[in-house]
Amino acid sequence: MKKQIVIATSNAKKLIEIQSILNDMSVEILPQSHFKIEASEEPFHTFVENALIKARHASRLSKLPAIADDSGICVDALDGKPGVLSARYAGEPSSDEKNNEKLLKSLENESNRKAHYICVIVFVKHEMDPEPIIVEGIWHGEILKVPRGSGGFGYDPLFLDHMTEKAVAELPTDIKNRISHRGQALQKLKLKLNQIYG
Ligand code: IMP
Repeated sequence: MKKQIVIATSNAKKLIEIQSILNDMSVEILPQSHFKIEASEEPFHTFVENALIKARHASRLSKLPAIADDSGICVDALDGKPGVLSARYAGEPSSDEKNNEKLLKSLENESNRKAHYICVIVFVKHEMDPEPIIVEGIWHGEILKVPRGSGGFGYDPLFLDHMTEKAVAELPTDIKNRISHRGQALQKLKLKLNQIYG
């Protein structure tokens, strides 16, 4: 029987991205919803601390090794905001549309529109694992003045990828997965997991 790993996310689109990148590994990747695990709190100021608490929470409740990601968008002119609050920048309940509106408003008279997506992924073998695997991916770009495209999720209609000169919401999913912050972090994770499970 294949070894199982639980993924600590409740975001369906993130889950699909993660599963599609790890699908050629010889492990079965199960979402935490499979075990009826509720999302953990994300109380910290850094991506790495939030990813770690999510992974430990999922591992404790599933009794399986766990992967968790914490990601967001950091805008230079806003001192790194929305940062760890990206999902609920415009308050709760969280809404991509409201978050995007708030981001545009925050940058209304700003000429420096540099930003990056960041994704930190943590893998723990068990809840108390003293040596979690921690990987990171960063995707540089800038914030557009008007949304473009209909793909992806979150801030994708506003994030211009420097390499392709397209908004992420205009990129086909397979291209996004290859170059994104999450894609980069997952490729690094895959190399490390292959040493354990390969
Ligand atoms: P998390 O679930 O706490 O990691 O929140 C991540 C939030 O950051 C999402 O809800 C989005 O608002 C934003 N975000 C992270 N990655 C992406 C992406 O690939 N595209 C668009 N928005 C993203």
